[in-house]
Amino acid sequence: MATQFRRIGVLTSGGDSPGMNAALRAVTRAAIDKGVEVVGIYEGYKGLVHPQLKRFTDRDVSNILSRGGTILYSNRCLEFKEEEGMQKAIATCRENNIDGIVAIGGDGTFRGATDLSVRGIPTIGIPGTIDNDITSTEYSIGFDTAVNTAVEMIDRLRDTCESHARCNVVEIMGRNAGWISLEAGIAVGASAIILNEVEFDEDKTIAQIMKAKKNGKRNFIVCIAEGVPATVGDKLYSEKFAKRFEEKTGIETKFVRLAHVLRGGAPTMRDRLIAAQMGSEAVRLLLEGKSNLVVGMRDEKIISTEIGYALKLDRMYKGKITEEELASLTPEQISEMRAYCDKRTEDLRKMYSLVAELSH
Ligand code: ADP
Repeated sequence: MATQFRRIGVLTSGGDSPGMNAALRAVTRAAIDKGVEVVGIYEGYKGLVHPQLKRFTDRDVSNILSRGGTILYSNRCLEFKEEEGMQKAIATCRENNIDGIVAIGGDGTFRGATDLSVRGIPTIGIPGTIDNDITSTEYSIGFDTAVNTAVEMIDRLRDTCESHARCNVVEIMGRNAGWISLEAGIAVGASAIILNEVEFDEDKTIAQIMKAKKNGKRNFIVCIAEGVPATVGDKLYSEKFAKRFEEKTGIETKFVRLAHVLRGGAPTMRDRLIAAQMGSEAVRLLLEGKSNLVVGMRDEKIISTEIGYALKLDRMYKGKITEEELASLTPEQISEMRAYCDKRTEDLRKMYSLVAELSH
């Protein structure tokens, strides 16, 4: 263990997700277990810029494992993105003997973690977002809970759809990523799923649905990922789709939006378990003297990735990587990243193909 670690800070930042408390508990207990003190930093990076700190004992994280939200609260702190705010945050760390930080959040949170790391406060990120949109990891804490909540909600909609021979068009949170819509949609037997990641043939889908209707099917669920309306440049895309669907099919169609309800609630077993593993790993890395890494999961194993690399991988997957960023990578890194992105796309498409195969 690097001897300079006497005290670490832990914060939750960006959009909250179920399991953040479980990760906070794991970080706190794992650090105390190694003889290191823990300070809870409230409201994300804001709690460093305008100090809101509390020394955490084992008991401060008792009975939070099963609670949704985050007891540290979260905030989007724009001041922290400016050099002046950043320097205030560094000064808070120095004045309070915070030797390292574990930051639980999404990609914005990890950019902040890099800023702290390069200014001498070693920081490790833990992915906490329901969207599962952090490319460097196959799993982010909160995703399983959000998908299960979506499934429960849509199952209820389906009950009433069946009684009344209706369709429900459900817009589902997930920012620009379609993972929640895809997995929840397949789990509820959706007739159609509309995502940014896969092209959608409306006429073909409607023809398939009409065929199923003729075949006696009474209930229809269509899932639309939250990011689709933004991509097509029409905020009302989902509502309009529901109307169009009703006109074209003659099936009575209701529109529902599953938004922040997916962000709350008690974390599932999977989210608790992964939070425990990732929290423990983040502390281990920090105490080993590592910095500027984000913990993740690949093939069900806990891994870690350098944050700069993780952010570039993310931009490559989203088709946003610049020539300048590519020039900073070795040919081996580029081909490894491309292969990983291709695999992720292939996995998503393979899962998507189940919709047409199984929904009639
Ligand atoms: P998420 O972590 O869920 O992606 P945000 O993008 O809102 O959420 O980021 C959370 C917080 O991380 C921001 O409010 C800000 O304090 C910090 N942050 C985001 N981007 C940067 C950046 N480029 N540099 C420094 N800090 C950042």
